[in-house]
Amino acid sequence: MNLADSGILAAAMESAGYKAVADPDSAGVIILNTCSVREKAEERALGRLAELVRFKKDAETRICAVGCMAQRLGGRLVERIPEIDFVLGTERLFELPALLDRGNGQVVVDTAMSSTADWAEYPPVPDNPYVGYVTITRGCENYCAYCIVPYLRGPERHRKPQAIINDVNHLTAQGVKDLTQVGQNVNSYQDDGLHFPDLIRMVLGETDLPRLRFITSHPKDLSDELIAVFAEHSRLAGHIHLPLQSGSDRVLDKMFRRYTYAHYRGLVEKLRQARPDISLTTDLIVGFPTETASEYHMTLDAVREIRFDSAFMFRYSARQGTWAAEHLADDVAEEEKLRRLHGLISLQKDVSSEVNQKEIGRVREVLIDGASRRDPAVWKGKTEGNKTVLVKSNQPMPGRFIPVRIIRADSWTLHGEVAP
Ligand code: SAH
Ligand code: SF4
Repeated sequence: MNLADSGILAAAMESAGYKAVADPDSAGVIILNTCSVREKAEERALGRLAELVRFKKDAETRICAVGCMAQRLGGRLVERIPEIDFVLGTERLFELPALLDRGNGQVVVDTAMSSTADWAEYPPVPDNPYVGYVTITRGCENYCAYCIVPYLRGPERHRKPQAIINDVNHLTAQGVKDLTQVGQNVNSYQDDGLHFPDLIRMVLGETDLPRLRFITSHPKDLSDELIAVFAEHSRLAGHIHLPLQSGSDRVLDKMFRRYTYAHYRGLVEKLRQARPDISLTTDLIVGFPTETASEYHMTLDAVREIRFDSAFMFRYSARQGTWAAEHLADDVAEEEKLRRLHGLISLQKDVSSEVNQKEIGRVREVLIDGASRRDPAVWKGKTEGNKTVLVKSNQPMPGRFIPVRIIRADSWTLHGEVAP
């Protein structure tokens, strides 16, 4: 979501005449788009801001903190880091170019929850020339007990299908070949009787985009019709990110997730029937208030049973103002949360490694999106299952779908060679 928002803000800045530069040292305006979802995310954003203010060469350089942490802390952010000039919340960040124009050197803190800028006006600048994101919904109304997102991003709003298609066409024309539709809960998308499966069919029908994805899906809203679209359309990538959070029904209930493990398991079966090769990733939380050791073991059992391709795993972090933080004692000791997290990560690492070993010998279509960070002589790209593949070749490959035979695999990465 933040990548998508950053792309829109970059487009708004460019259309106001600003140019992106490669390093903060040569920047006149420095913007940090922040996350608040866990305390650790905020600590990192604060650390990064403290680093970035050192690039304030003179009084003209503007330091801007935008997004969720700006929304949550508002003026308190300027109290902590006085060099900050702009604090703009989740609905106000796209106003930055206009505010810079009007700037009289005064600090601006704006966390109002209504937007006047038409952010849909700016097709996002992609982060990578071949990989793009298009926002389809903003906000969330699910109020999962642990989650601060609904308080910071406001109620759920859906963009018009035509605006989405225009963005997809714009990005496709620029060379984007792998595009993700983004929202907190894309399954609940609806516009005038048109639902998410219809939107996917429309986007595939009215654009030349070769590979479409979406994130994130809520299990309670994943319909049979959406599952059917995976069977119908090969341009819809065989990957779904479906956060489970916990393997225990009691914990899921306390989290207000509104599904049971059995329901989730049933969805996975249907997805695997519709697209046998589908790659399945998830989010898991350990140490939610009142979680017992045996409930934690139910999450481990779920990982063993379902065999996710990969997972984002977190220890519970109390977020002020959420239902859980206000009504439940954060009663799993920090060391115990860490123990549970390490146990989970180590199990998932083994599962990912075993799942990835099965890729060896297969040929996958890989969209090469650049050079590997570690070794510029090696290309990197993604399979439709969203797995990173490294390929050695002297041929120029970025932006092309290359058939790659997988020859080696570890938990996070596949290694391959160009298939003849
Ligand atoms: N809208 C998405 C998730 C947004 S937050 C969805 O519903 O799936 C991304 C992930 O962060 C969540 O799925 C959850 O696993 C984790 N998360 C959110 N709040 C958290 C908290 N307070 N402590 C620990 N993990 C949290
Ligand atoms: Fe947070 Fe739940 Fe909304 Fe996801 S669905 S953003 S976890 S409240």
